[in-house]
Amino acid sequence: MKIKNRYDVVVVGGGPAGSVAARYVAEAGLSVIILEKDRDIGYPVRCGEAVAHEGLEQFIDIDPKFISSYIDKFIMVDPTGQEVEFPLGGIKGYVLDRKIFDYELAKIAAKNGAEILTKAYVYGLIFKDGKVSGVKFEFQGEKYEIECDVVIGADGVESRVGRWGGLKTYVNFKEMESAASYTIANANIDPNALYFYFGENVAPQGYLWVFAKGNNSANVGIGIGGEIAKKKSALKYLDEFMETHFPNVQILTKVAGGVPCVPTLEKISAPGLILVGDAARQVNPLTGGGIYSAMVGGQVGGKIVAEAIKSRNLNHIFSYDKAWDERMGHRHKIFNNIKNSIYKFKDDKYINLANAINKIPKNERTFGKLFRTALINQPSLLIDVAKVFW
Ligand code: FAD
Repeated sequence: MKIKNRYDVVVVGGGPAGSVAARYVAEAGLSVIILEKDRDIGYPVRCGEAVAHEGLEQFIDIDPKFISSYIDKFIMVDPTGQEVEFPLGGIKGYVLDRKIFDYELAKIAAKNGAEILTKAYVYGLIFKDGKVSGVKFEFQGEKYEIECDVVIGADGVESRVGRWGGLKTYVNFKEMESAASYTIANANIDPNALYFYFGENVAPQGYLWVFAKGNNSANVGIGIGGEIAKKKSALKYLDEFMETHFPNVQILTKVAGGVPCVPTLEKISAPGLILVGDAARQVNPLTGGGIYSAMVGGQVGGKIVAEAIKSRNLNHIFSYDKAWDERMGHRHKIFNNIKNSIYKFKDDKYINLANAINKIPKNERTFGKLFRTALINQPSLLIDVAKVFW
């Protein structure tokens, strides 16, 4: 492939956010290239891979080739080991095979006209008249530069593009969830369930997950508060859990990473630059789930960038901040407040909650009832939610 020295848009990073952003730019008839530093799109996988059906189907036709398992229930496990089951009433979610899923998203972008270059490591930005006007990158030992109207930073949780472009991307260590995850074989679990374990000894200021991945395999992972992880690492908590719950399984992959469980950055656009996905901190701060919100960020951002270039009004990209806030950012602020309350729960709160919910017949357990029960156990949650609206 010949590397041109000018595109309308350069996207840094070929994860869900980058591929979806590039797709919408290309769909508008503009030239766009995705630069991805890794050899393969979608690999290595640093993710529990769980996603809701509603989120997914807006962006891609559901195809069994990237679905590892079909989810019809959540199972919450309290600190005593008591299980609380939430039937979801049919298939409502999936555990993906992200290696294939991310590939498919990139293929959709390519089908719409986006170009993709892997093993292309972006190491800096080009500026002209105080505006970002391109990127510098290394590919097969050579240094290259590409000029463009807008750079879309989709370079994930460790993003540097935003900082280079003058945006404040710093996340307080306390709010950066520290995560570790294994993919295991020979797990004896419900094949259609997502398990969530809570408790001060299991996953302080977070939760531990076991997501069924088909054929008795599963993603087992943990996310805990950054401050906690300074004293005892997420990996250590995970290994203790493995010893007691899955002593005889085989571990196929091990990954560690950070999840920015915070509201979106104050500013996610700058002259000639926007950030999407984890780079913009668009993760749902309550659950740590970021696949869906990364795709939404890519969609909202990609469309606005395309409009700005086509109308020759590059200042239009600044409307992305508000558009994102209205679409999801505002809701994330609410989720963040709820998270801050829930993460203060002591073990007895989880146990009381589990006892109360287990009194509700299984087929009558809705999220509304769960939330009401949580409010009875922690009335201050209501104040936190209300604060966001006022
Ligand atoms: P990424 O998927 O991280 O993609 C960023 C891409 O940019 C990468 O491919 C990277 O190689 C590339 N890149 C970075 N720097 C450069 C550079 N300088 N030059 C070129 N390319 C670059 N979310 C869920 O919804 N469900 C889950 O179950 C879930 N579990 C998780 C478990 C763990 C342990 C972790 C760490 C996260 C989890 N998440 C989960 C979050 C989810 O993985 C992310 O929110 C999601 O991948 C964000 O997509 P993205 O496109 O913004 O970033």
